[in-house]
Amino acid sequence: MTASLNVDLSSEDVARFGNDPARTFSANLQNVQERIAATCRRCGRQPEDIRLLPVTKTVPAHILRFAFAAGLSEFGENKLQEARDKQAALADLAIHWNIIGHLQTNKVKYLVRFASEFHALDSFRLAEELNHRLDAQGRDLDVFVQVNTSGEASKYGLHPGELMSFVERLPEYPRLKPRGLMTLAIFSADTERVRTCFSLLRALRDRAVAVHPGLMLLSMGMSGDYETAIEEGADVVRVGQAIFGPRPTDDASYWPGFVS
Ligand SMILES: *Cc1c(COP(=O)(O)O)cnc(C)c1O
Repeated sequence: MTASLNVDLSSEDVARFGNDPARTFSANLQNVQERIAATCRRCGRQPEDIRLLPVTKTVPAHILRFAFAAGLSEFGENKLQEARDKQAALADLAIHWNIIGHLQTNKVKYLVRFASEFHALDSFRLAEELNHRLDAQGRDLDVFVQVNTSGEASKYGLHPGELMSFVERLPEYPRLKPRGLMTLAIFSADTERVRTCFSLLRALRDRAVAVHPGLMLLSMGMSGDYETAIEEGADVVRVGQAIFGPRPTDDASYWPGFVS
């Protein structure tokens, strides 16, 4: 199947993704899907209600051709520039690109050209600029409002206490189609501390949705904590390393203050 891709793999690629990356990704994906199904059985949810958003940061564009061959057609990227470069390199494939990381206002003009979703809305300034640029393009954008549920200064997102006043003003930005709330839990081996972040987001969603019915979905859970997130109500889990393998570098450039 993948021979027809005609992609040359370097020895570095083979070391990281195997001889047949599509097979590696399919096997990993199946494992994640089985764990999602098992978690759903435990907590009385339906696996088909959980959306698995593959996170592809640091995975090179030519390798993503194998992910596409393995059946994946939407990718989450943390950084706009990285997403933009990959989108350009893979423009021949029908891929949905979702930006899931912090965005600087001066990058908004690029995002509106190709992104399907944005998961890290956390300021009026960004909402204003997005709405303005989307309007110029004559298009709408699905957005998730990011909340800092861990209280860590290193995490982006609105303070929980700021969320309701933010939500009340979302109708001022009609090009933004609010879909839900997003969070990153605390990086901790203590599952109960992680769980507290997710249950807080769910409680906030229950209040927010009363004001803005679009804000129904919870985007929460990553490779290390998606099962806990599903138990706490996650609708979208953003999973990278469990599908694509460990990243070669630490995540400091994606999360300021990150300590591995
Ligand atoms: C990288 C990233 C993820 C996925 O993390 P993994 O550990 O690779 O599963 C999820 N959300 C955001 C915002 C990310 O940047």
